[in-house]
Amino acid sequence: MSNNQELFARASQHIPGGVNSPVRAFGSVGGTPRFIARAQGAYVWDAEGKQYIDYVGSWGPAILGHAHPEVVKAVQDAAVNGLSFGAPTEGEIELAELISQRLPSMEKVRLVSSGTEATMSAIRLARGYTGRNKIIKFEGCYHGHADSLLVKAGSGLLTFGNPTSAGVPEDFIRHTLVLDFNNLDAVKAAFAEHGDDIACVIVEPIAGNMNLIKPVSGFLEGLREVCTAHDAVLIFDEVMTGFRAGPQGVQGLSGITPDLTTLAKVIGGGMPVGAFGGRADIMDCIAPLGNVYQAGTLSGNPVAVAAGLVTLKLLDNDAFYTQLAQQTKKLADGLQEVARHHAIPFCTDSVGGMLGLYFSASVPTTYTEVAASRIDLFKQFFHAMLDEGVYWAPSAFEASFTSGAHTDDIIQATLEAADRAFKKVKN
Ligand code: PMP
Repeated sequence: MSNNQELFARASQHIPGGVNSPVRAFGSVGGTPRFIARAQGAYVWDAEGKQYIDYVGSWGPAILGHAHPEVVKAVQDAAVNGLSFGAPTEGEIELAELISQRLPSMEKVRLVSSGTEATMSAIRLARGYTGRNKIIKFEGCYHGHADSLLVKAGSGLLTFGNPTSAGVPEDFIRHTLVLDFNNLDAVKAAFAEHGDDIACVIVEPIAGNMNLIKPVSGFLEGLREVCTAHDAVLIFDEVMTGFRAGPQGVQGLSGITPDLTTLAKVIGGGMPVGAFGGRADIMDCIAPLGNVYQAGTLSGNPVAVAAGLVTLKLLDNDAFYTQLAQQTKKLADGLQEVARHHAIPFCTDSVGGMLGLYFSASVPTTYTEVAASRIDLFKQFFHAMLDEGVYWAPSAFEASFTSGAHTDDIIQATLEAADRAFKKVKN
């Protein structure tokens, strides 16, 4: 059996930081990342054979639980027929049809292989469609690692205290207007000043990359109104929230219709699939119909699409989402109750299969509030829980994820572990 520490040392020889995506490195919490050997249902096992209850869920995709037998079977069956053709397939049509049916705002859909590709392509499309340069994003929202979007971003950039990436030319940054999430006045002011040159507003309609931050009442409605008034494209980045916050994502929960939507994570069922889509008149500006170029050797990959298709079919079930939201809330409420007994400043919030854990006295609604939470307490809690066999995201700025496999017993075991862990947290 391998050892996490040895594997990390070995990985660090040939992989920068020993990981292929920065937050995995435990850089902000300290300690050795767990090298995962296998996963099933609500559990992952590390290379040392230790079992953990998993609230990372591959950062969102594992909504049915890991290695769901029907998803695994679909992947195996598809693989036998060939791994990639670089030509159209019937499966792609079916996945696009399913997405359009569930999210009617997505009249036309283009499949890609990651969330980054989806948002990068949606931004290019919005610029091509409007003939404008500037984009609006919100501080603490993460939309993948395309250059224009790595400005004051959340997720790993926020975690490591360096929210704007090096290597992004000033000329790009100049076109990205970064505003405060939940501050509609700032959006109106930006449009008053630059309205003729704003191609789009891109937003995580429930932010999950600076912990979980919900939109205040009127924020999404206001974005819709301002974009319509100025002929700018409203993009909901539902890479995280799509098919997770609810059966129709945040657009279903809020009743607000974006012009374009980006998806990934759940729609690939654990395999690399992303998508962007929306109004047909905008989507038809993409090559080969239009002059906005976008392409991909592995786009619509048949094995990945098979995993996505069966996942979305299994999720076509409102009872699943009701149950998922109930379980997540049970966990959220339970954790808050346990922390109260230990007099720890801690609170929680949840939506669908997403959970926010905040080491602060009240639930934050702004980036500034979440940035002021007690990271020192989070680190202690994170390690105490890891020792107890509960695996949270190794960052105070990430949402946590539940799945259909997180049963009552598993939630109860988590709460009992949290009781012992909070006892060890020194305020
Ligand atoms: N947008 C959002 C809202 C995300 O949460 C993420 C990934 N966490 C991305 C885009 C980028 O997706 P990917 O990592 O698949 O490129």
